Amino acid sequence: MKREFPIPQGTTLRCKGWRQEALLRLLENVLAVGEDPDNLIVYAAMGRAARDWPSHDAMVRALLTLEDDQTLIVQSGKPIGVLQTHDRAPIVIMANCNMVGQWARAENFYRWEKENLICWGGLTAGDWQYIGSQGVIQGTYEIFSRIAERHFDGDLRGRFILTAGMGGMGGAQPLAGRLANAAILTVEINPERIEKRMKAGYLECRADNLDHALTLIRDAQARRAPISVGLLGNAADVFSEILARGIVPDIVTDQTSAHDLVYGYVPSGYTLAQVAELRKTDPDTLMRESRASIVRHVTAMLGFQDKGAVVFDNGNLIRTHAKEGGVERAFDIPVFTEAFLRPLFARGIGPFRWIALSGDPDDIRKIDDFLLRRFADNQIVANWIRLAREYVPFEGLPARIGWLGHGERTELALEVNRMVRDGELSAPIAFTRDHLDAGAMAHPNIMTENMRDGSDAIADWPLLNAMLNCASSADLVAIHSGGGGYSGYMTSAGVTVVADGTPQADDRLRLSMTNDTASGVLRYADAGYEEALDEVGLKGIGRIDTASTRQP
Ligand code: NAD
Repeated sequence: MKREFPIPQGTTLRCKGWRQEALLRLLENVLAVGEDPDNLIVYAAMGRAARDWPSHDAMVRALLTLEDDQTLIVQSGKPIGVLQTHDRAPIVIMANCNMVGQWARAENFYRWEKENLICWGGLTAGDWQYIGSQGVIQGTYEIFSRIAERHFDGDLRGRFILTAGMGGMGGAQPLAGRLANAAILTVEINPERIEKRMKAGYLECRADNLDHALTLIRDAQARRAPISVGLLGNAADVFSEILARGIVPDIVTDQTSAHDLVYGYVPSGYTLAQVAELRKTDPDTLMRESRASIVRHVTAMLGFQDKGAVVFDNGNLIRTHAKEGGVERAFDIPVFTEAFLRPLFARGIGPFRWIALSGDPDDIRKIDDFLLRRFADNQIVANWIRLAREYVPFEGLPARIGWLGHGERTELALEVNRMVRDGELSAPIAFTRDHLDAGAMAHPNIMTENMRDGSDAIADWPLLNAMLNCASSADLVAIHSGGGGYSGYMTSAGVTVVADGTPQADDRLRLSMTNDTASGVLRYADAGYEEALDEVGLKGIGRIDTASTRQP
């Protein structure tokens, strides 16, 4: 039977309450907007919503019958039980893809995945929080804005951004670059992905070949007009060719799924069909070929950097694989978090999201209106909401991302809960955030690279964050670790809370939203970041200062 993936909507409950209904709708939504829903794949090469279809169907059945005082337990995308808890406990808890340290390697992951013992939930796929390419768009936009401030007098008009990858997350790049007023060229090997981004309104035009692409970019630069151009091709080849022609973009990055050498990155010289075949017959060769391509790809990025371009890693492990392939200087390229966003994370400001469970875009617009009134003086929030409401199309359930910080998230969530209670919104709203948030991720090559105190690879922080969110009555709490190429590289935590208008939701939102960001500020304060220490004082966050007991 061919499955359909409709976007859920309306106000009719199928579950025993809105908390359960919300999580069911979020599960349906990640498949509705996912990259390959027939195979349960949502984004990031292999990030899945459930382990397999029987597990998915059993999860749906469990959500349909779950009581308010029960908790559904999910292990790597498979439901393993429903247990009696209490009505202030999470209704779903998850542990996805966590492998014991010495065993947490890609080859073990692929073996256990084949044996159906494990599956990778990405960050927001397995815990049903993905909202389409919008999920990272503000982050990408903020990076471009920081680069503009630091290197280009605050203005990217007439500037050329070169990047690659138009998948679930990378697909946000063309629109983010355009919103930052740049001329952005994004190289993508899969024509379907280019079509999908054009249809979704994230990409403006598709070039016929490299010459055409460069002409479109040059013309836009000359007019100081923003443009987003997609080019079908392999990034390793196209980046090298542009460098060889002596053309130096102003900004260079990459968001191909380079983290996964088998199921993600497509090596130069191979068609998509050949890669699909090799995945089945000879993954070792594919891994070698992908790494060899990444070596060329990153060598070209370094070439651009040497010629003065602002080059950064956009969170896909491309430098790591290049270094393993012999590119000694791969880590001369900085990672986006450390280079541009860490001062925000240190204050607990990060990619917060809210999703209209009704499917009614008006609900999001009303929340936009509130934010524009309440945070009129907050330049990051006000500027973004204005841009987003005008230019960012909804995919699936209407949703918004907004980089809000400690206290701000709680305030928004409580106001929205009131709006639900007073009938100003047509149905409840789910609040969630990316795992790539202040207190929720340890990833020594992405989120926590070069932490001031050297604590890059300490995974206690996301584990504490998840436990704290359980103790704070969140509705869903998840602990994820890396799978595929990310195996052994990351541990992170996810949280979702539903504003259903009830006084109980007020309590859940107040505790969970406040403590979630507090854990982030405490994490950065512990590492010695002044912004976090300042935030602790400003917002009265309950920190215990044990600095005097540290060994020198
Ligand atoms: P995806 O698997 O949905 O898409 C990756 C895209 O890259 C695909 O469309 C694929 O065809 C293309 N591609 C692969 N090899 C290529 C090549 N050699 N040349 C050109 N195109 C190629 O993945 P995604 O969800 O878009 O994520 C992309 C990467 O970004 C992943 O590594 C992911 O983990 C990472 N990521 C970063 C952040 C962040 O905050 N910066 C957030 C989420 C994901």
